[in-house]
Amino acid sequence: MAQRKRPFVTKEQLEEIAKAYPTPFYLYDEKGIRENAERVVKAFSWNPKFKEFFAIKATPNPTLISILHEYGFGVDCSSEAELMLAEALGITGRDIMFSSNDTPKDELAYAVSLGAGINLDDVTHVALLKEVADPVPEFVSLRFNPGGDFAFANGIFGSPEDAKFGMTEEQIFEAARELKAAGVKEFGLHALLASNTVTNDYYPALARTLCTLAVRLTREFGIKVTLINLSGGVGVAYKPEEEPNDIALIGEEVHKVFDEILLPAGLSDVALGTELGRFMLAPYGGLVTRVLHLKHTYDDYVGVDACAANLMRPMLYGAYHHITVMGKEDVPATERYSVTGMLCENSDRFATHRALPPVEIGDLLFIHDVGAHGHSMGYNYNGRLRSAEILLKEDGSTKLIRRAETPLDYFATLDFSPLYKRLEEIQHGINTKKPQA
Ligand SMILES: *Cc1c(COP(=O)(O)O)cnc(C)c1O
Repeated sequence: MAQRKRPFVTKEQLEEIAKAYPTPFYLYDEKGIRENAERVVKAFSWNPKFKEFFAIKATPNPTLISILHEYGFGVDCSSEAELMLAEALGITGRDIMFSSNDTPKDELAYAVSLGAGINLDDVTHVALLKEVADPVPEFVSLRFNPGGDFAFANGIFGSPEDAKFGMTEEQIFEAARELKAAGVKEFGLHALLASNTVTNDYYPALARTLCTLAVRLTREFGIKVTLINLSGGVGVAYKPEEEPNDIALIGEEVHKVFDEILLPAGLSDVALGTELGRFMLAPYGGLVTRVLHLKHTYDDYVGVDACAANLMRPMLYGAYHHITVMGKEDVPATERYSVTGMLCENSDRFATHRALPPVEIGDLLFIHDVGAHGHSMGYNYNGRLRSAEILLKEDGSTKLIRRAETPLDYFATLDFSPLYKRLEEIQHGINTKKPQA
């Protein structure tokens, strides 16, 4: 059976790339990223003030963020380091949305100093904002959590009640009143009520909730809402049998909701915001790893040279990531393998009992849809190092956009210790013995 999901590269291309950059590595598809960015721009072009604030946490790579910035996209930040990255890239002011929670005061102050759009997660943060910003910013956004279940498609829903994010409706009203009294002129409304929604119904349903709230705030408190921010949550089809979201259709449906609810209330110039992370990049990144070992015990294991330190989602959420054995795209998936990394953790696996074609040592595997929440979630357990990130450009050439970590990166926080000198010497010794790539 031919697989519906195909990598954006061929085996020959990957073997060429692997000569320059040892596996494992992340590979991003510039062409796919640009085409998708264009689709997003087009889908929401009916809203003249539309802005996508790319959620930096998904893929905090400056090269990729700069590509997205070319399409007028800003960024959604939630930490000091993410704000620093935005500032360094020249993305400032209202091109930044600061959507943090459990917010440290100095980070809020930094965001305010950049002129970022501040999205308050809690009613108590009104006081925090007043402390760090005098006068208060002209624009403030409020994060809404309606509680209960949020149903938006046949049997599909999120559970906002269980989420730590956002304010109740009462708290939104209270925060709006206080902020208006403090001098805030314009308000945004924001909510993220479900994650990785693989349905075209989520954004329109959320738009309905936020637009309705905007009208109430306008009528009851005389507050001017200028931004409806649908945040992230639009998913991608990780599984080959899933139907990918149709962003053009989603755009049309959100448009209808805006017209139906906002126009009669005289709110025709409200800007639409999104904070797409996964949808912007997930399908356009692959983790490329080579088969080191085949092991047959009570299961058939494929041991690869990547591990959960490179991609944690399967370990963390049991997430499905499709795997292609390069060069065997059309070979029948007659085998059942568990594909594992080398961490001393049984949960370190990319797949369990996955149907794949016969695998041999040395095969390259392409792990799909890791362009968002992939590399950025990496960690260093077992002294494992995070891999390089490489951009496959539109002309077929490649560019290193983040080098792989070395052991000395791992030891860098010991650089005050005399031991660090010794570690440097050991590293030097290892390097001189290694055959140079
Ligand atoms: C994580 C996050 C996003 C991005 O979510 P995706 O599911 O990747 O689209 C957007 N906004 C906020 C506030 C987030 O925390």
